[in-house]
Amino acid sequence: MPGFSRASRPVAVTAAVTAALACTVSSGGTALAAQRSPAWCKPGGTLSTRTMPQQVKITDCDLRGRTVRGANGLAAVVPSDGTSLVAHAMRTTGGAELRIEVDDGAGEITITSKGGRVPEGRPRGSRAPLDPCEDGVHRLEPSKWPKGTTVDWNYHPGTSGLPVTAIAKGMSNMVNARTDCVDGGRFTPPPDVGERNTGQSDDPPNITGDAACGNRNRVNTFGWLAMTGAESNVLAATCIWFDGETTVETDMALQEQGKKWWSDGTCEAGSYSVEAVATHEAGHVLGLDHVEGADHVNLTMTPSLASCDSGPATLGKGDYDGLIALYGGR
Ligand SMILES: [Zn+2]
Repeated sequence: MPGFSRASRPVAVTAAVTAALACTVSSGGTALAAQRSPAWCKPGGTLSTRTMPQQVKITDCDLRGRTVRGANGLAAVVPSDGTSLVAHAMRTTGGAELRIEVDDGAGEITITSKGGRVPEGRPRGSRAPLDPCEDGVHRLEPSKWPKGTTVDWNYHPGTSGLPVTAIAKGMSNMVNARTDCVDGGRFTPPPDVGERNTGQSDDPPNITGDAACGNRNRVNTFGWLAMTGAESNVLAATCIWFDGETTVETDMALQEQGKKWWSDGTCEAGSYSVEAVATHEAGHVLGLDHVEGADHVNLTMTPSLASCDSGPATLGKGDYDGLIALYGGR
């Protein structure tokens, strides 16, 4: 390996790379390839998935600790602590996902990106949206919290001056399966997972000014961030770090730069509902992925949101069914 990639890395990781190299050499034949990085693996700066294979052998290019940007514009620092990650961005024009799976055992990193600068799952026909109280479609992230977990999180107010309330409502809406579909305002039983706001944090979410997932700090932090380098249509970003099939950390940032937000009273034209966005992002925190297609736009986990639309703050059948698939009933 070239010297550049070792110098900036913790000892433990270097040891793992050495072990992987030794393994490659002993299995014969590819020692030369292991010593020479491919041209796309140049040191410094952000790597683009456009120029690299979807599956990368760590011996060819050790991506851990490097920032990788997907074709959809989403970026993340490849974890170097053995975890994998999923990054989500909600844009006014639709959602996007970047998934980075690190398999230290196999010495491979797999990167996939979905969505783009046009709405994800853009409808091919003009199918009418389904009734969200009947539409049971859901998709799951590759990981979830252990059943029965209470997800503790800190609130980072940024410079928004906004109280924790609206984001807290989003988390509560998810774990309590809030809905307009049934009497009582909640699907029952609720999923067997909880959440608790454990206070306010001066530390921002581990998300960069470009709305990229940064290095995690083992604290779930949700709140406001001036993502000055993000594309102008980004409303929020959520990062999920996981180990095997278990989520170990989630961070959520809502864009406080250049977006108008609505948290109570009458919605001012062009503003976005904090509670709706927070509820959708809370779905990612708990392990729900996007549902795609025009027929599912009334579900909370649809990746698009119109201004002054608070609909996603209440769950549809598919959102609830997804939570029960993940956690069972409480
Ligand atoms: Zn989303």
